[in-house]
Amino acid sequence: MEKVTYRAIGGMNDVLPDDNAPFYVRSSNWTEVIRRFAAQARAYGYEYIETPEVEKLEVFKRTVGKSSDIVRKEMYAWEQGDDNLALRPEGSASVCRAMVESGLLKRKSAVKLWYKGAMFRRERPQLGRYRRHTQLGIEFMGVDNAYADAEVISFLYNFITSCGITDIELHLNSVGCPVCREEYRRKLIEAVTPKIDSYCDDCKERLKVNPMRILDCKNAQCGKLSADLPSILDSLCDDCAAHFAELKRLLDDLGVPYVIDHKLVRGLDYYTKTAFEFLLKKAVGPIQTLCGGGRYDGLIELLGGEKTGAVGFGMGIERLLLAMERDGAPVGPYRLEYYVVYVSDATRDAAYKLTARLRAAGHSALMDYKGLKMKKQLSQAMNNNAKCAVIIGDDELARGSVIVRDMDASEQREVPFARFEEESGLK
Ligand code: ATP
Ligand code: MG
Repeated sequence: MEKVTYRAIGGMNDVLPDDNAPFYVRSSNWTEVIRRFAAQARAYGYEYIETPEVEKLEVFKRTVGKSSDIVRKEMYAWEQGDDNLALRPEGSASVCRAMVESGLLKRKSAVKLWYKGAMFRRERPQLGRYRRHTQLGIEFMGVDNAYADAEVISFLYNFITSCGITDIELHLNSVGCPVCREEYRRKLIEAVTPKIDSYCDDCKERLKVNPMRILDCKNAQCGKLSADLPSILDSLCDDCAAHFAELKRLLDDLGVPYVIDHKLVRGLDYYTKTAFEFLLKKAVGPIQTLCGGGRYDGLIELLGGEKTGAVGFGMGIERLLLAMERDGAPVGPYRLEYYVVYVSDATRDAAYKLTARLRAAGHSALMDYKGLKMKKQLSQAMNNNAKCAVIIGDDELARGSVIVRDMDASEQREVPFARFEEESGLK
């Protein structure tokens, strides 16, 4: 048979248990940050949600917005039978769809959710920008006031700093509500139109379909032209202005530093009031934005639910790990508790039974099945970062004892088996 090999689709990464793999796709790093995120989410009262990777295309068109870059250029969508389907480009729309469908929001006064899931965007792949990336995120639904925004932002701030990333700056803005945003849009169009010929082609298009996106064009010339455009913060209605003031006060109280950035508009149409991003002060390659989120008070209603205030964020694990690697942040190494070593065919079954008993008692335990030499088994113990090797020798087995080797101190002692059982909680 002809031998063929395949490569993954460009911009879609394998996450591998391989020390030679780049840091941001090494599986030990993934499991560790996911574990930390899950633990923090539980501590803050967020419950896990998982929704399918595939949704009706309409779910995203209606929420993320027809004029957004995501829907216009980045989505994987196809027709199948009578359905138009899409790979999800982001998490919030699916989560809201699931909340409306399940009726959970009706039964609870507030719903706090966290998720981990792959997102798909057909962007030009580069460091920190992939066609499949994985987001960790939370959504807090059912609370209109700024306590919820401040909780979500401080959750993220605490998580990022606890991961050892110090070089971050929280950018904060309010994008208003449909009422005050409409007024701002008019002001913006008025201010940009006379000089639109000097803007890039993308911005010329944006002026027609989504003028607020002009504010965060990455083109230097556009940035200069936009320097003195009116600020949305001067157009906020009373309700939006009060919400923004309250959020700033709460963040001050919580000791979460921020800078006001009236040009922060974000790429999804559904945001209302609060918009925020954590930026890396010093970019990692082309990546400046670590993560972002905001309030989306209209989204649930757009998907057929009752009007419900909600706020959340999404963060790419790949970008988080790129920043952690750059900052030399430690990802605690995994420690195996026991590596069970045998020296002969006669002791192999005893080792097998002991490994099984250790696991059943809740310990992590490993052994070799292939009959490696004892020295090789001990180096396996080292490779697996074992704290302890339990060596079952022929003579020791006959005497009813085992050798317990402290792998860090490289010291070992013979211990009666009954005592080992006691020490390791087997009895
Ligand atoms: P950017 O401006 O960098 O394109 P975005 O505004 O499109 O980001 P969001 O829609 O806010 O990003 O997604 C939330 C987070 O998901 C981002 O801050 C980032 O951490 C991550 N993310 C988004 N797109 C990608 C991608 N293509 N590759 C890797 N991570 C991504
Ligand atoms: Mg993007």
